[in-house]
Amino acid sequence: MKIKTFRYGVHPEERKELSKNAPIAAVLPGERVAVPMSQHIGAPAEPVVNVGDRVKAGSLIGRATAIVSANVFSSVSGTVAALEMKEGVSGAKCLHVVIENDFKYEEERLAMLTDPEREEIIARAREAGIVGMGGAAFPFDVKLSVKNPVDILLINGSECEPYITCDYRLMLERAEGVVSGVKLVRKALGAKRAVIAVEANKRDAFDALQRYAAAEGIETALVKTKYPQGGEKQLIYALTKRKVPAGKLPGDVGCIVTNAATAYALYEAVVFGKPLYERVVTVSGLAAARPGNFSVRTGTSFGYLAKHAGIASDFVKAVQGGPMMGVSMHSLEPSVTKSSGALLLLTEGEIRAVEPTPCINCARCANVCPMSLMPMKTDALILKDKTEETKKYHPELCIECGSCAYVCPAKRPLVQSQRLAKKLILNRERR
Ligand code: SF4
Ligand code: SF4
Repeated sequence: MKIKTFRYGVHPEERKELSKNAPIAAVLPGERVAVPMSQHIGAPAEPVVNVGDRVKAGSLIGRATAIVSANVFSSVSGTVAALEMKEGVSGAKCLHVVIENDFKYEEERLAMLTDPEREEIIARAREAGIVGMGGAAFPFDVKLSVKNPVDILLINGSECEPYITCDYRLMLERAEGVVSGVKLVRKALGAKRAVIAVEANKRDAFDALQRYAAAEGIETALVKTKYPQGGEKQLIYALTKRKVPAGKLPGDVGCIVTNAATAYALYEAVVFGKPLYERVVTVSGLAAARPGNFSVRTGTSFGYLAKHAGIASDFVKAVQGGPMMGVSMHSLEPSVTKSSGALLLLTEGEIRAVEPTPCINCARCANVCPMSLMPMKTDALILKDKTEETKKYHPELCIECGSCAYVCPAKRPLVQSQRLAKKLILNRERR
């Protein structure tokens, strides 16, 4: 079988061996969960409960307030203890509904749907609060409501970030559910073809999916183990050779990309009526005493999860997500959300704590950039405060994958420079 890929990219050390053999295990929350009303891109949900209200796991506690917004559900049964502003992983504060867990785990479900029509599937995605679980957290019903005809649905099972194995375990252990979810997504989009892409380092998950996919007319493809193989534009190119032009979306070239966990969440919402309040999270890193893949209820604090996995004495830094695109955490207090795929507990040796030095013009950053950008140019111009001139190097096309920074011998903060250039240009244009 031919293994497909995109141009450029990098090969960071995988480190998946730390958690890849750990089957998904449930972690039940502690005495309280703090469920954020903003777990998605778009307008925060509006609380529909008050202090003292009784809720069950799956009770609606926050209603979507705009087209781009998502419903939020309680993840435990118990009593609403508070509505309070708390910090999320990024440090920004948002409203949380704090629920005292009664440890009974009584459940409230939506009606189960049998053989739903396209519109019913989209409505269910909205009702169940499903968002993109690969990190973007874009409301899934909006993604499914495409205007242009969709040729090919691509399911991203590449999980190219080092350390992370949550999608791998899901595809391996719950392959039938993932495939059923893909079938529903395909129907909602009216797509002619559906292809599940899995990186070559997950051959057993690929085989498991293939067993069910073939009978449903769903294709499976192996893609090269390379970073950022799971980037939307990179995956589309690898599988279809179509290029998404600058400023356009995958839908403009007839493709829609979603990830395997999102398809699985849709399956659970349609077939079992289960809203999205639980997900698989990888806890890994050399400072995790018992790394693994855990089924975690939203609103559980990362600190609680870290304690469950065990924090070794040489722990120095926590990251939510992978080491390439994840967010460095200054506290473990924030809650796990619908899009939290991983918590990394890292030691000094795993962090590149080297001070940046001047650029030596080696061009390595440009040679690996999957978007064919010249990150050293943007970085140099940002240093000189020449924002306007960065425009010719198109920072707006940067997908913030971190490949450039990964290979830079001078440890230049290249992603931050691209991000800053984007922000400054946008601010100027708005003015
Ligand atoms: S410039 Fe952006 S897209 Fe290119 S390698 Fe760096 S982070 Fe990735
Ligand atoms: S990789 Fe680093 S040192 Fe080399 S050109 Fe790019 S920014 Fe400069």
